[in-house]
Amino acid sequence: MGSDGSATSDVNTKAVARTPLHPGATLGVLGGGQLGRMFAHAATQMGYRVVVLDPAESGPAAEVASEHLCYGYDDAEGLKRLASMCDAVTTEFENVPADSLRFLQQHVPVSPTPEAVEIAQNRIREKTFFVNNQLPTNHFERIVDIADIENAWASMSGKAVIKTTQLGYDGKGQRVCSSADEARQAFESFGNVECVLEDFVAFDLEVSVVLARDSNGTVQTFPVVENSHQNGILDTCVVPARVSDVVSGKALAIACELATALDYVGVLAIEMFVAGDNILLNEIAPRPHNSGHYTLDATSYSQFDQQVLTLCGLPAATVELYQPAVMLNILGDLLLKESFDWSSIDSSQCHLHMYGKAEARVGRKMGHINFVGEDVDQLLEGVATLQMT
Ligand code: AMP
Repeated sequence: MGSDGSATSDVNTKAVARTPLHPGATLGVLGGGQLGRMFAHAATQMGYRVVVLDPAESGPAAEVASEHLCYGYDDAEGLKRLASMCDAVTTEFENVPADSLRFLQQHVPVSPTPEAVEIAQNRIREKTFFVNNQLPTNHFERIVDIADIENAWASMSGKAVIKTTQLGYDGKGQRVCSSADEARQAFESFGNVECVLEDFVAFDLEVSVVLARDSNGTVQTFPVVENSHQNGILDTCVVPARVSDVVSGKALAIACELATALDYVGVLAIEMFVAGDNILLNEIAPRPHNSGHYTLDATSYSQFDQQVLTLCGLPAATVELYQPAVMLNILGDLLLKESFDWSSIDSSQCHLHMYGKAEARVGRKMGHINFVGEDVDQLLEGVATLQMT
């Protein structure tokens, strides 16, 4: 492992090496949000053309791509056009229909695979995958009917979180419960859809590991990131995470094992709880992640560079953390404040990234700021000053 906590691992070579795609090739991306935008920035900088498929008429990724196909994610005509225009296709969001990826896969290389995406889309499949691969996670039970809650609750420790199995994000579709009755109420309020009931984890810290695994099976991890949330939405990230070497080593090792067990190709983000020296897996995202945005300014290669490299069948790059970093998400909340003034963001002291979204809304991710420097406390002061505006 590097002194900054990044690491290379060759634990598995099941992945199949591919003929590399070089600059001039065209890369497709399903999804038109900020992750697609930053992927397009990285790809075009390296000389690739980028085609975005996004049903919205305009958006963060479409605005910067070489071409925009305005079709639904399961529109056969749109997918055919994408396949005919591209040399490889990736996705920027996990709820992309797996069947669309399967269709594309018949024509062009697709990473991540539909199988990996299907696991990440469903909390039960995800947690079952962890358990089947002896990867640590908190106790959980599947709830398909309200009657399942009674028995499931009996196996919890008195406090639990009920979450919809699919389509939950940024704290939506989940509730912390202190009784079976509360869990039943939450289940009904979610519309009686399939849920997972999981034991509440009294964690010390939440961390994530973002990694890239290439088609040779080599894994390159970014350092462990420490994540803080506000109202269920990621607020700040501190890198490297302020954890012991033991915890950091465990987090990276578990992340590598997981990526290899999935035979994953592409960029994978893994969210974990830290309790003492123990790590418990929370969830995975089959794409670059908000907690990896600091890599745009603080590491030798960004998570989006890695997405391009791995999609092109090229080796994932070795990662070096140049300096510690703190990332602050800019939500619509900040921009909507009457007291907000753009001059409170001093771009000579930090790196501003905005996603080009037309309308600021509460809870909407509008951009982020990376503070990079030797002294994390000083970086956090910069964040606090901004948050007070
Ligand atoms: P998730 O959508 O699973 O990432 O959950 C969103 C946030 O809710 C997490 O980042 C945690 O802060 C919190 N959370 C989720 N599951 C649990 C749990 N089992 N125990 C404690 N907190 C949790």
